[in-house]
Amino acid sequence: MSTTIAAIATGNAPGGIGVIRISGEKAIEIADAVFLPLDGSSLSKLKGYRAKYGNIIIEGEKADNAVALVFRAPRSYTGEDVAELSVHGGLLMVKKTLEAVFAAGAVPAEAGEFTKRAFLNGKIDLTQAESVAELISAEGEQALKASYNALQGALSTRINSVLQKLLDASALMAAWVDYPDEEIPELSEQELEKTLSCCKAELDELLENYENAKTVTKGVDTAIAGRPNVGKSSLMNLLTGTEKSIVTHIEGTTRDIVEEDITLGGIVLHLKDTAGIRRSDDLVESIGIEKANKAIEDARLVLAVFDGGEKENEYDLELAEKCKGKTSIAVINKSDLEQKLDTSFIENAFDKLVFISAKNDEGINELSDAVSELLGVKDFDTSAPMLANLRQKQNCKNACDSITEALEGLSLGVTYDALNVMIDAAADELLSLTGRKATSEVVNNIFSKFCVGK
Ligand code: GDP
Repeated sequence: MSTTIAAIATGNAPGGIGVIRISGEKAIEIADAVFLPLDGSSLSKLKGYRAKYGNIIIEGEKADNAVALVFRAPRSYTGEDVAELSVHGGLLMVKKTLEAVFAAGAVPAEAGEFTKRAFLNGKIDLTQAESVAELISAEGEQALKASYNALQGALSTRINSVLQKLLDASALMAAWVDYPDEEIPELSEQELEKTLSCCKAELDELLENYENAKTVTKGVDTAIAGRPNVGKSSLMNLLTGTEKSIVTHIEGTTRDIVEEDITLGGIVLHLKDTAGIRRSDDLVESIGIEKANKAIEDARLVLAVFDGGEKENEYDLELAEKCKGKTSIAVINKSDLEQKLDTSFIENAFDKLVFISAKNDEGINELSDAVSELLGVKDFDTSAPMLANLRQKQNCKNACDSITEALEGLSLGVTYDALNVMIDAAADELLSLTGRKATSEVVNNIFSKFCVGK
């Protein structure tokens, strides 16, 4: 008999309500020990999908008004009997109720154990379980939509359809090899080639989309760079809506790196506002400048800021040089002033050029469009299936490699036996991807990254 687990399902902070979730064979019995419905009935008599209003009873005394929800196996999140107690959300009340639940026989749930049970009970597959974690941590609008679609099974559907084609082909080939005299429909090599090519194309599409999917779901490291006083901090503040970066007209004010996450063009940018690039005798400022150069090198996207109201100088040219070959946008600031910058040196160094006035809040929509176009996510379809992490990508790539091998083998005329080994290897990778054949290490590793209560 498996244990009955319990944990606080809402966050570890005061809120309107706090929810204690209990799952396992004794879930409802345990809930009955700490909750008394107002009508004096008991939760054990309740069908699934029902709620009762009543009181939390701690050490024989009424401690809080609460609502109890009852879900009956297999129709619950975990696939087991589940009870959820919603109490008033002061942290102490929630903790005391949880303690009472433990005293009645439940054990503390491990990180991700509710979702792990859902996976082990066949309610969701591994890609869906991972998307639960993504959904919780999603910051951008697109990330939220993408992980919701993965939770609905967008990736599983794609993978399972490829898998089925591979298994059908494999079964047919095995039958041909094992029962050559039986009346098994003829296996045409042309058909087989078509099936394998189609499987490969479907997996290739997922792999090609991986970087864009990662951009959408994980965000992009972005450096704001430029010489002192071009308006980097003003841009940062405009984007973050705060006064985190110090704005002054004194050169060298941003001596270290200010970091903030913002959403622009539907993507989360992990922004770093860097020290102005110039040479300096001031030690502290020099370290800041060194860090700035490193931030530019490491960033996936550089927003290189120039002052449109001034003629270009050696630092501007140096920055343009540094950005060559990087994914970068030239942001010409101070468009409200008379323009003196000759942008010809910028045009061949940058992928895009945008005019803004950080002071007057102008040009931010254009910047937003430039970001999403440049990162290839402007028309990103969040409803399409996508690989969400390296684990999924690796399984997909291995499957794809085995199919490629099988296609080569087919053209070279290798035996069906040998072909079947390659196709089975591809199928195995896809079974690992969705978790139907994943090792317990892989499964434990995935759920250990969840929070307790999920
Ligand atoms: P940083 O050193 O590159 O971070 O530059 P700051 O953001 O500190 O700005 C330097 C100066 O330029 C400040 O006096 C800002 O008020 C001014 N500034 C920033 N953006 C604009 C703008 O769009 N137009 C004008 N006219 N001034 C700006």
